[in-house]
Amino acid sequence: MLLSSVKKYLNLALPYADIDPESWEKLQYPHKTMEATLPIRHDDGTLKTYRAYRCQYDDTLGPTKGGIRYHPSVDREHTETLAFLMTFKCAVAKVPFGGAKGGVSVDPKKLSHRELERLSKAYIATFCDFIGPDTDVPAPDMGTDEIVMGWMYSEYKRIKRGNPRDIITGKPVPLGGIKGRTTATGYGGYYVLNYILDRLQSNKQVSIAIQGLGNVGYWFANKCQQEGLKIVAVSDVKGATYNPEGIDPSDIKGEKITNEELLELPVEILVPAAIENVITESNADKIKAKIILELANTPTSYEADLILENKNVFVVPDILANSGGVIVSYFEWLQNRQAQEWQEDEVNLQLRNKIRQATQKVFERCIEHGISMRAAAYSLALKRIGEANECLGNKGYFQK
Ligand code: NAD
Repeated sequence: MLLSSVKKYLNLALPYADIDPESWEKLQYPHKTMEATLPIRHDDGTLKTYRAYRCQYDDTLGPTKGGIRYHPSVDREHTETLAFLMTFKCAVAKVPFGGAKGGVSVDPKKLSHRELERLSKAYIATFCDFIGPDTDVPAPDMGTDEIVMGWMYSEYKRIKRGNPRDIITGKPVPLGGIKGRTTATGYGGYYVLNYILDRLQSNKQVSIAIQGLGNVGYWFANKCQQEGLKIVAVSDVKGATYNPEGIDPSDIKGEKITNEELLELPVEILVPAAIENVITESNADKIKAKIILELANTPTSYEADLILENKNVFVVPDILANSGGVIVSYFEWLQNRQAQEWQEDEVNLQLRNKIRQATQKVFERCIEHGISMRAAAYSLALKRIGEANECLGNKGYFQK
């Protein structure tokens, strides 16, 4: 999705944000984006080059935070778009971070482990003066994992000396990673849904369809099952399974359908948890779910969002629904800065509290102004960033 497209959500939110024009202007553009070329020696002796990026979109609320993606589609605009989303996600979750994102245009499945290690260390060697525990804190994203974070951490440590564990989150637990990070986004999604169902006074006998049973989708499904919610359809990249009687996410049985059919099933709750842009102008009208919980980033196009709003579908936006990951990353950063080790129960309890508070704030704005949850979430974030920015003075202040 393009930056110009996601920025349209800001316009929907502006009338409810009470933001100063100067803060608004500042948020229209990424603050800094750095691009580099990484030359990597491959195992067969050849040298190949890869384009790499890091964008720090806005740091008004704190050091910028965001993952590093390894995928062939990574480019400057995509990185800036994802950094924009992180800025607003952190502000909604009320974690003391701005938004960033990074990435390398590469298919990591085509590299050996040694090549991946060289690439990851080269990324850090190149960007090490641009990032830092108090300036910009990276994390995993698509195509990167805790092993990659471990390599990156060890390279940063080699260059800068000391043990700056708070430079990167999503590390393996023995290197200062936090317990409960793997389940965080899925569990967080469940806590958001649970709050919404209570407030909408929907009974818990709902049926749920989940597109994408990867890390996020699986742990969301697992938690729903533990809490007695009925999952009737799940999918992965190869296809979907439907069973109106209910599906156990670790033992999937039912009728085979396509990923497109899954989106249009007669269910109460639809959960896109795979990739971006799956609900578009061409299928939004056919969606029968009453609630959409966006666990993937930008699964709904701007045009589809307007169609769904007209149909009174209750869309819980990505910047709220999938914020469990960045909330627990914040706990990891905090744990590292305090040289402590949090227990998993504590992580899950604090995650539940924090994400419920964010959901409550967004829900109340949605009711108060009669606007969508997305407009409510963006307006809350704009208001918070704007308030912090105004503390530094604005036109009115300096003209006094
Ligand atoms: P993952 O790679 O573990 O899982 C992705 C799942 O989607 C897999 O089951 C895959 O088979 C499926 N999939 C891929 N292409 C598909 C397609 N074309 N149609 C249907 N299914 C397809 O990734 P993840 O970490 O679970 O992330 C899923 C989404 O959540 C992404 O949009 C990601 O940006 C977002 N997200 C993840 C986190 C996190 O903590 N992992 C945090 C915030 C947002």
